[in-house]
Amino acid sequence: MVPKDTIAAIATAPGRGAVGIIRISGTEAISIAERLTRELPPPRRAAVRELLADDGAVLDEAVVLVFPGPSSFTGENVVELQGHGGPAVLELLLERVVELGARLARPGEFSERAFLNGRMDLVQAEAVADLIAASSRRAAQSAVRSLRGEFSRRIEALVIRLTNLRARLEADFDFSDDDIDPYAEEGLRADLAQLTVGLDAVLDTARQGERMSRGYTIVLAGAPNVGKSSLLNCLADSDIAIVTAIPGTTRDLLRAQVEIDGLAVDILDTAGLRDSDDPIEQEGVRRALNAIAQADLLIRVYDDDVTASRHDELKAFSVREDMPVLEVFNKVDLSGGVSGARGAMQYGVSALQGQGISALRAALVQALGIDTESETPLLARARHVAALEAAHLRLSAARELQSTGEGAELIAEELRGAQNLLGEITGQVTSEDLLGVIFSTFCIGK
Ligand code: GDP
Ligand code: ZN
Repeated sequence: MVPKDTIAAIATAPGRGAVGIIRISGTEAISIAERLTRELPPPRRAAVRELLADDGAVLDEAVVLVFPGPSSFTGENVVELQGHGGPAVLELLLERVVELGARLARPGEFSERAFLNGRMDLVQAEAVADLIAASSRRAAQSAVRSLRGEFSRRIEALVIRLTNLRARLEADFDFSDDDIDPYAEEGLRADLAQLTVGLDAVLDTARQGERMSRGYTIVLAGAPNVGKSSLLNCLADSDIAIVTAIPGTTRDLLRAQVEIDGLAVDILDTAGLRDSDDPIEQEGVRRALNAIAQADLLIRVYDDDVTASRHDELKAFSVREDMPVLEVFNKVDLSGGVSGARGAMQYGVSALQGQGISALRAALVQALGIDTESETPLLARARHVAALEAAHLRLSAARELQSTGEGAELIAEELRGAQNLLGEITGQVTSEDLLGVIFSTFCIGK
């Protein structure tokens, strides 16, 4: 059921800004705005209007935009009031809009209505939230692709192929008493194989997209003064690494969030690890060791200028057995050593003067398993990947049934299962619970 009441919210981020936007959506949106402004601008034309209180006092001057349904963001009548971006004036305006008959929107309710009114599917609605939450440029680009419906189109293409295959199978078992064999075994085998290839391609880009939206973790390990902090600064796209020291571990930076080649990367510096009697500090170290054990890449940094390694000074830490390891020999400007690649996963660099850094950066991106040559992945969520994986299992089951000569009916049943799983991704097949879970994580005003 599509709700009929009119909702309103402050759509801009809390705090002070040049512009603050109030968004109103629902059947009453336009009449509320009329009473607020005396005279509305024509649809989709921006105009400055005085926004009036009940007694005629001017609450604010705002750019007013009217988007009549159904061709609006939500599919309903939508009005946007772009006023001055102070929390007090926006609260006053919102109160006035509520006084005139709107109610406060729940988080994500505008997007939910857009979904319920068929203005976008679930993947697109989620991409709106993911775009806003994107912590790197690549994640943002991926979210835009999904938002524009590319992911949905790929899923729908698979659904259409599944539907056609099922239709042919069902025709087959409807006529199974007759001698006609409208769908030869070989054709079915080939179609199922092709469908699996198509599904795996989508699964692959979805896995990459999901991985990208979570961000990556790199461990930087090395003795004091080998140049870890310097290296971090020149790997990062900007000078400002966002540093969040885990409580208690203040000796050196422990965690920095940076963007490398448009990717969100968390860098953990093992130099912050040390033994301590302080329980809070112990907890911080325990968490850091946990994060290190799970990380995606280990960079070991050495001073290329000295022969004696001081590695034994470091606190022991363990990493995943399959974690890729890059070895970096820093300060080639002092040592005169080779800069750039020295061997598989070995690089000579100067964090101070920049030699070898671009080669290292490329190696790092590659070691994270990111294919920069291929297309931007489609941003996906864990739930999309899970549904695609489950659909893959149903397809495998169908192929297994086919190869053992089972009847068309059982095969069609597996395909129906796969189709439902794909339908859950775009929201064609959905439950109220799922919608509640998805939209409640959105911000208010979206
Ligand atoms: P960390 O303790 O491993 O984080 O090392 P720092 O990044 O704090 O660097 C220790 C010292 O080495 C600083 O004085 C840096 O300026 C210096 N340093 C770092 N990288 C280089 C480099 O590539 N060449 C030279 N000449 N000095 C460097
Ligand atoms: Zn340091």
